[in-house]
Amino acid sequence: MAEHDVIVVGGGLAGLAAARDLRAADRSVLVLEARDRLGGRTWYRPFAGREQHVELGGNWFAQVCHPHLSEEIRRYGLRITQSPSGRTFHSVVAGHLLTDGSAVPESEAADLDRCLARIVEESHRISFGEPLDAQQVADLDVSFTDFLAPFELPEAAYEFMLSWAAFAFGCHPADLSALHALSWVAGFDHHAWGLADPPADKFADGTSTLVDALAAEAAADVRLDTPVAAIAHDAGGVRATTRDGAVHRGAAAILATPVNTWHDVDFAPVLDGAIGAIGEERHVGHAVKLWVLVTGVPELMVGAGWGGVDRLSEELALPDGRLLVGLGHSPAQLDLASRDDVERAVRLYAPEAEVVAWDGHDWNGDEFAQGTWAAFRPGQLTRYHSAFEAPQGRLYFAGSDIALGWAGFMDGALETGRRAAGQVLRSTHLASI
Ligand SMILES: Cc1cc2nc3c(=O)[nH]c(=O)nc-3n(C[C@H](O)[C@H](O)[C@H](O)COP(=O)(O)OP(=O)(O)OC[C@H]3O[C@@H](n4cnc5c(N)ncnc54)[C@H](O)[C@@H]3O)c2cc1C
Repeated sequence: MAEHDVIVVGGGLAGLAAARDLRAADRSVLVLEARDRLGGRTWYRPFAGREQHVELGGNWFAQVCHPHLSEEIRRYGLRITQSPSGRTFHSVVAGHLLTDGSAVPESEAADLDRCLARIVEESHRISFGEPLDAQQVADLDVSFTDFLAPFELPEAAYEFMLSWAAFAFGCHPADLSALHALSWVAGFDHHAWGLADPPADKFADGTSTLVDALAAEAAADVRLDTPVAAIAHDAGGVRATTRDGAVHRGAAAILATPVNTWHDVDFAPVLDGAIGAIGEERHVGHAVKLWVLVTGVPELMVGAGWGGVDRLSEELALPDGRLLVGLGHSPAQLDLASRDDVERAVRLYAPEAEVVAWDGHDWNGDEFAQGTWAAFRPGQLTRYHSAFEAPQGRLYFAGSDIALGWAGFMDGALETGRRAAGQVLRSTHLASI
């Protein structure tokens, strides 16, 4: 006998959006969350033990392009602000620091523009947010470095393009599908600079305001510190077994955990098709996000380039320094536990900088994330994207990683949570137990 109509595994934005919609339809919902908090890969908490809070995970969005997030912001009346515009632009390419505001030396600017223009042009072939037509875009589903090769870019322009992709996806561009990169350009209304220009939106009081609002309206039975070890389903219902050995029964379940963690759960039957394959292969998003308080950097500096963290920008001026946020594409580039690494990351763009304090979370070593945001390898999108929506028996799938639209963004988490809840409500599974 089912104790709950639906068991939601994972209390991030996707799981909470699903729980909220199911509860609104008068269904009983049990949320099983492995951590001691809700919100998953969003985490708004004090910076380095101070009063100032920072976003260790998901942070920026563009209200005009992110419809699911915008809907929730309106629904709950959440306060939004913007990251500051940069005033001083520093670029590091081909081993040189450029401080004159240009991305690349003037002699290479036309090459860079030619490449970006082509990216925008090719992005028009993608119907953003819809299942991909594999045949139509197969030639784009190659590594980003292979995509760049025919442009024969000179060194600085080439490295700038590498950093453009690495910053956005948190992986080496050789591991990234150009199709995924171009799909974001399509989603940003065919704008190659996405979140960087115009300045990105963010939650004025933190992503926790959205997490709290969803959780409050859902008013579901939430169990924290309860990792799920196994999920079995058949005609009789779903059984989710937690690591402490407890078994929870439901008529249906929604798996709303990161794709990169699925291999740690025993599924019976095993995950099948596109969902099974992506769970086995995983995505390659392994960014490092650094918050660092510094002195000795120019006001409102934005640094971008290749050879260290891919982007570093000022978010806030505090009484004892400037608070910068950085993104690198590999934990091998930047060990958050190492002062030397942090200093090197900042001094790449601002050689006079002194580090006062820093903070960050190791999402790659975190067993309930095992990566950052979705970045697909060449071939994965054309093979699997159109089948991300399909449930398997009584098991439904949600999570930003498998969004049809903004995979990798908070918007995608909401899209899929709501989609999965809708699928469950339309199914016959709830009536049959
Ligand atoms: C460093 C970083 C920067 C980012 N920057 C941005 C950004 O600027 N803008 C943006 O839109 N997005 C950004 N993202 C991505 C965005 O935060 C995520 O895509 C989104 O929050 C994912 O939501 P989700 O609900 O799909 O997954 P998650 O938030 O990961 O939620 C899944 C939940 O499942 C739980 N879980 C895992 N395994 C188990 C288990 N076995 N049993 C029970 N529970 C389990 C996890 O603890 C987690 O709470 C960023 C992410 C990171 C890490």
